[in-house]
Amino acid sequence: MTQTQDAACTKCKFFDDHSAKPQADDGLCRYNPPVTQPSAEAHGLWPVVSSNDWCGHFRLDTLAAGNAD
Ligand code: SF4
Repeated sequence: MTQTQDAACTKCKFFDDHSAKPQADDGLCRYNPPVTQPSAEAHGLWPVVSSNDWCGHFRLDTLAAGNAD
């Protein structure tokens, strides 16, 4: 079980270090599908998270640790 002090979005398998991020330590959370927008023509938005954020869906990025499924 993951200890909460070890949880961080940057260590999570669902974190995407996206190139269009607004801040240096920001990224996108890919746990859920993009959030739909009121306009049918607008692209859905992925939630922006900071490096020190975390949530109850945290899963250690095993690919980075060399222990892929
Ligand atoms: S918000 Fe939760 S699921 Fe998303 S990247 Fe952060 S810890 Fe992972």
